Amino acid sequence: MELKLVTNVLKANDALAEQNRHLLSQKGLLTINIMSSPGSGKTSLLERTIDALRDEVRIGVIEGDIATSKDALRIRAKEVPVIQINTSGGCHLDANMIQQALAEFPLDGLDLLVIENVGNLVCPAGFDLGEDFKVMLLSVTEGNDKPLKYPRMFLESRAVIINKIDLLPYTEFDMTLAERDIRSINPKAQLFALSARTGEGFEKWCAWLKARVADKKAVL
Ligand code: MG
Ligand code: ZN
Repeated sequence: MELKLVTNVLKANDALAEQNRHLLSQKGLLTINIMSSPGSGKTSLLERTIDALRDEVRIGVIEGDIATSKDALRIRAKEVPVIQINTSGGCHLDANMIQQALAEFPLDGLDLLVIENVGNLVCPAGFDLGEDFKVMLLSVTEGNDKPLKYPRMFLESRAVIINKIDLLPYTEFDMTLAERDIRSINPKAQLFALSARTGEGFEKWCAWLKARVADKKAVL
């Protein structure tokens, strides 16, 4: 019985996700869903990405959080449109929450919509929100074991970013091993290594993202 219930919930989610995807694609709006554990630097990544692309890409943000609007306030300080979803304890975003947020969001004139998921290494990977693709963020302070322990997060992502590389000298993190583990799970994932704090490695990430925004517009 329980298994059937889960299947039905996911089916209902997928139908809503398709509606979201249709709406966003009609607008030529690239939508990415950023996932990570708490404290990996999703909001910091976003802040620096907004700064780096400010003159070229118009970005809007949906912030998912269990409680508070701390992250949304940080994004608002960057003067880009942002909407906050509080899941009231829920540990992931779902397509229904995104649909409700989209109904109130000024989508026209945007090039890129970024959804910051709730910090969690398990269920965000199982929920399609209607995004074009997922991005997984792993910070070097979390340790090398995470890709193999939480493979679905890496499997479902089109890009995997290793963050906080400025802290590499202070950790046991092995970059070669991490890349090998990630590739063993998802050979096609686009890999980036960067520091959202210092900006090291940001050019490659921003150039790649900008190219994806252009791809999306090209199929309009
Ligand atoms: Mg955050
Ligand atoms: Zn969850």
